[in-house]
Amino acid sequence: MPNLRFEALRNAPQRQHTHIEEPIKRSELFGKQVFNEEKMLQFLTKEAFDNVKSAIFQGSKIDRKIADQVAEGMKAWALSMGATHYTHWFQPLTGATAEKHDAFFDIISDGRAMEKFGGAQLVQQEPDASSFPSGGIRNTFEARGYTAWDPSSPAFIYKTTLCIPTIFVAYTGEALDNKAPLLRALHAMDQAATGVAQYFDKTVRKVQATLGWEQEYFLVDRELAQSRPDLVMTGRTLVGNAAAKGQQLDDHYFGVIPPRVLSFMSDLEKQCIRLGIPVKTRHNEVAPNQFELAPVFEEANLSVDHNLLLMDVMEEIADRHGFMVLFHEKPFAGINGSGKHNNWSLETDTGVNLLSPGSTPMKNLQFLTFFVNTIKAVDTHEELLRSSIASASNDHRLGANEAPPSILSIFIGKQLSNVLDELEGVSKGKLSPEEKTELKLNVVGKIPEILLDNTDRNRTSPFAFTGNKFEMRGVGSKMNCAKPMTILNTIVAKQLRQFKKEVDALIDKKNLKKDEAIFNVLREYIKTSKRIRFEGDGYGTEWQEEARRRKLSNNKNTPEALQVLTSNETIALFKEMEVMNEVELRAHQEVELGAYVMHIQIEGRILGEMVYTHILPAAIRYQNLLLQNINSLKEVYGAAHKKVAEGQLNILEQIGEHISEIKKQTDEMIEARKRANNLTAINKKAKAYCDNVKPYFDSIRSHTDKLERLVADDLWPFAKYRELLFAK
Ligand code: ADP
Ligand code: MG
Repeated sequence: MPNLRFEALRNAPQRQHTHIEEPIKRSELFGKQVFNEEKMLQFLTKEAFDNVKSAIFQGSKIDRKIADQVAEGMKAWALSMGATHYTHWFQPLTGATAEKHDAFFDIISDGRAMEKFGGAQLVQQEPDASSFPSGGIRNTFEARGYTAWDPSSPAFIYKTTLCIPTIFVAYTGEALDNKAPLLRALHAMDQAATGVAQYFDKTVRKVQATLGWEQEYFLVDRELAQSRPDLVMTGRTLVGNAAAKGQQLDDHYFGVIPPRVLSFMSDLEKQCIRLGIPVKTRHNEVAPNQFELAPVFEEANLSVDHNLLLMDVMEEIADRHGFMVLFHEKPFAGINGSGKHNNWSLETDTGVNLLSPGSTPMKNLQFLTFFVNTIKAVDTHEELLRSSIASASNDHRLGANEAPPSILSIFIGKQLSNVLDELEGVSKGKLSPEEKTELKLNVVGKIPEILLDNTDRNRTSPFAFTGNKFEMRGVGSKMNCAKPMTILNTIVAKQLRQFKKEVDALIDKKNLKKDEAIFNVLREYIKTSKRIRFEGDGYGTEWQEEARRRKLSNNKNTPEALQVLTSNETIALFKEMEVMNEVELRAHQEVELGAYVMHIQIEGRILGEMVYTHILPAAIRYQNLLLQNINSLKEVYGAAHKKVAEGQLNILEQIGEHISEIKKQTDEMIEARKRANNLTAINKKAKAYCDNVKPYFDSIRSHTDKLERLVADDLWPFAKYRELLFAK
């Protein structure tokens, strides 16, 4: 058997990476493969165009006759672009995207062929998707799932397929995907935020949530990665001795991007631009071979779709460049993990960022309103928000010794903390003219219009205000942003609805002026949400102690973090906001727990296989070499060989100890897995995998990594950390 590792090591440096930055203007390529407004104007009737626009703006329904017209136009455009197939593109609960391609081509009755695609095919499809996880929804209701067109996210052409973004729901209406709940949450947000924004500007008709993600990832040489079953099957290294040089020198961060990577990035960006994904920044990250890509922010639903599409595109282009792209949150132990910061804000149809301080006291009061309500929402629902970023792979970041911690807290900086402190002192009820003037001039009026450069730069807080948006940093690099975005928007929408109720009551019943009422309610929110504000860096036990005193939740692993999804409060909240009903919440929780179990189960299996079929054999081979050598020395030196072979004997002993320890623990792990598999309740099973199976991974690893340090390099089967991380 040829050693894959050595073949890969021979091949890696010879890969072509001629990189020529083509002088094509990005703006000319932008959205070329997207059925955007420009194409709609060209290919749709006026009636169809108006209908689609109002579906996007108001969420109005598109009737069948119009759908036929839209389909006709879409087909004409797609065929003119050389597309041969179409697919409904959806987001099953597994977190990735799914599609089922159909050809436009069809045979009509007299044996002639034509390209067919009508309103029926556009609006609804019934994919044979019974193998996607549904948390029992479809069994319970004996209903199949169908996909339905989401006109608010434009269709696009990927390779030769017209992709139509859709939701995926059961016939009984329950969401089987991540997009349907997100759309409902965004709708709830629109309604609640518009109501509040109208206190400040009567002309506001719509508020949309905006999202700008920052995607972190690793690139490793594809062939080298393929020498490792763990990377191929689980996306992370289950074993691997740390490289002599890690990220200590910090020489990678913002350093020169290696040419082969640059060539990958350049190809990737071109493809993104064609697909309408507005990518903008690219740079090296902290760890070796780690990079980041960020777009210009967009409306949240579109932004989520774009991130999912991006991950697909990245895998394909990485492959073309001889790379494997790693989205896993912690591919390498002892090296920085990857995240996907979610920058989030609210924007009116009049073009105002509601989380951006303005130039007048009134605009700043509007800013403070949305700012304080967000803080209050996160404070009330911190545990729920934490649950939205729970996954087996993200557990390696949250709760492990890496930023951000598993405890949610908000960082707002000194300047805004001072403003909130001042507002706490506002009088109850009516305000005197002097107090109003004082507030306008010296408190609200003192918030600088551009906070961006003034905010302290905290890099580790899980939820930080960064001048004109909040940045949610716990989101995992592999995750579908729809999950955290659904929960964040739901809780803030709920909070804004509550706020409006309270303000209106003060105006109607206590005869307060609008601004007085707003100040009064904000004052109480500031007082009651203090515990969530934390300006420190969140490392260490001190903050954990403090958080406990503040009664903040600290769920360190996924099975624990997901429990809150089905608490009475959560069920009531989601029902009130019409985002998910109880059946859906239970189903989503079950699917997430199932995914957790599967994840750990696969890791356990791969680890067992690697131990028995790769690691132990390599160690035994080396053991034999040593034994041969010692025996030969014995022949020559007789009894004196013990002195001569002292080093060999010592290594031999160490190897023997590791071998038996690894074998023992691997067998115990397999037994623990069997016991866990016998449990039927999914939450018990998940807990068993977390508490009884997973701990073996680290202890087995500590011995295999020591073996890696002892065994002759040419016998070691897996690409080593230094090779994976420093091969350019
Ligand atoms: P940093 O690394 O300092 O956080 P980046 O420039 O990498 O900064 O990322 C900033 C991200 O914030 C980008 O994705 C950008 O699109 C996003 N962003 C900026 N303004 C908004 C906004 N109003 N709403 C949502 N996202 C925003
Ligand atoms: Mg950031």
